[in-house]
Amino acid sequence: MPLTDSMPVLTGAALTARLADLTGNGVRVLVGSVVDMAGVARAKTVPLRRAAAFHSAGMGAAPSWNVFCADAAIAFTDRLGVVGDLRLRADLTAARVIGGGYAWAPAEFFGQDGEPYAPCARGQLRRVQSAVEAAGLSASVGHELEFVLTDADGQRLPERHWQPYGLGAVLERGGFAADLTGALEDAGLPVEQLHAEYGTGQFEVSLGPAEPLASADAVVLARLLVGQVARRHGLLVSFSPLPFAGGAGNGAHLHLSLRRDGLPLLSGGDGPHGLTAQGAAAIAGIVQGLPGTLGVFAGSALSPLRLQPGRWSGAFACWGLENREAAVRLVAATRGTPHGASVELKCADPSANVYLATAALLGLALDGIARGAQLPPEVTVNPAQDPAAERLPQDQQAVLEALAGSGTAHRILGDEVMAALLAVRRHELDAYAGTGVGDLTDRFRFAWTV
Ligand code: GLU
Ligand code: MG
Repeated sequence: MPLTDSMPVLTGAALTARLADLTGNGVRVLVGSVVDMAGVARAKTVPLRRAAAFHSAGMGAAPSWNVFCADAAIAFTDRLGVVGDLRLRADLTAARVIGGGYAWAPAEFFGQDGEPYAPCARGQLRRVQSAVEAAGLSASVGHELEFVLTDADGQRLPERHWQPYGLGAVLERGGFAADLTGALEDAGLPVEQLHAEYGTGQFEVSLGPAEPLASADAVVLARLLVGQVARRHGLLVSFSPLPFAGGAGNGAHLHLSLRRDGLPLLSGGDGPHGLTAQGAAAIAGIVQGLPGTLGVFAGSALSPLRLQPGRWSGAFACWGLENREAAVRLVAATRGTPHGASVELKCADPSANVYLATAALLGLALDGIARGAQLPPEVTVNPAQDPAAERLPQDQQAVLEALAGSGTAHRILGDEVMAALLAVRRHELDAYAGTGVGDLTDRFRFAWTV
C-alpha cells in the first residue's frame, strides 16, 4: 500500500474502534516517542482518554527537542531555540500494546498549524519512502540490533564461560532470551533470530524485513522491549557503539532489498551475482555516497572507536559478496535466503537516528539508480589486504565536514534536518575532544538505552 504523504489521521468510527481495541487490551496509558538527531528516543505520555488529543492535536514540545544532544546539552541554532512550540502527534495507526497497561506509538513533529515540520526525522523518512515509491520501486528494510547486557550498576557481567555465538552463553541468559523473544513477538515484531554475539555479554536480535517506515518504528519498539525485559531480569542494556573500552562494538546493520513491478533488483539479472543493472546502480550509489553520509550512520563521538578494521563493522567504503569487512555486504538470493537477495549496510551503529539512517540508505540507492551509477569493482578479500580498498573517513571532524559538504546528503535529508543533525553532532564532538576512551564509554554507555 503506498505511503501517505503525511501521518494518517484516524477520525470518527475508525478512531473509536482503535481506542476500543487498546482499552480491550488493557491499555490505560499511551507513550508516544520520537528519535532525535542524537539517536535518543524522547517521549510524552498520556492517559488513554487523552490518546485522541495526542493523535490529532498533539502534545507540546519545544523546537529545541530537535537539537538535544546525547549528553543532554542543547545545540541551539538560529532556528531552533527557546522560542516557539511544536506539536508531537502519536501515530495511532502504528500503536502497539506493550503490556503493563501501556501502548507505545511512534510520534511525529508538526507545527502548531498542523503542517509537517521539516526537521522531523520520521517525517523525512516518510518523504524519502514516498520518493522511492514514486520512482516505481518498493523497498524492504530489516534491522539487526546488537546490545551488551550489564549488571544493575552498569558494569560488565561476570560471564565466566562466555563464548561468541555460544550455546552456553545464550542459555546462561536463557530466561532473558526467552522473555525477550516472547515480548517482541507479542508486540507484533517479526523476530528472525537471536544469538550471543562476539563480545562478552553481547546479544543480537534480527528483525524481519518490512516497509522502511515500519522497519524503523520496529527498531524503536524493539529497543524499548529489550530495555524493559533486561530490567525485569535485574540487568541493564547498552546500545552504545562501544559500551566498554577494549570490548566489542555494537552495530546497527540494515538490510535493504528493492523491487520494481514485483521483481527484485538484486537478483535475477545479468550482472555480478545476478544483480540487475538497476540493482548494481543502487549498490554503486550506496558505496559512492558513504564517505559523504557516514555522519548519518555513525555520527557520534563514540562511532569511530567502533568503526575499525577487524571488527566486522564495515570500515571500508567498498562492497563484496558475503564480505563481512566491507561496509556493503551483498547477500545473494540462494536457497538459504528465503527473503531473497539484500545488501547489508554494516557501518551504521545504534547512535544513529534510525529514521535518518534508513532514509539515507534508501536515498543513496535511489540516487545511484537515478544517475545510472557505475558499480565499483567488487572486493573479494579482506579489504585491509586490498590496497585499492578505501577506508571510510576515520577522523570524526572529517566525517562531519564531509557530511556538511555532501550535496547528496542535503538532497536526501533536506536542509533543516541537516542543520539540526550537524549542530548536535558537532557539539558532541567538540565537547568530548580529548576525552579518554574509558571516560567516553562510561559517559555514554546508556545514552541510547530505552
Ligand atoms: N559487532 C559488530 C559491529 O560492530 C558486528 C558483528 C557482526 O558481523 O555481526 O558492527
Ligand atoms: Mg552481529
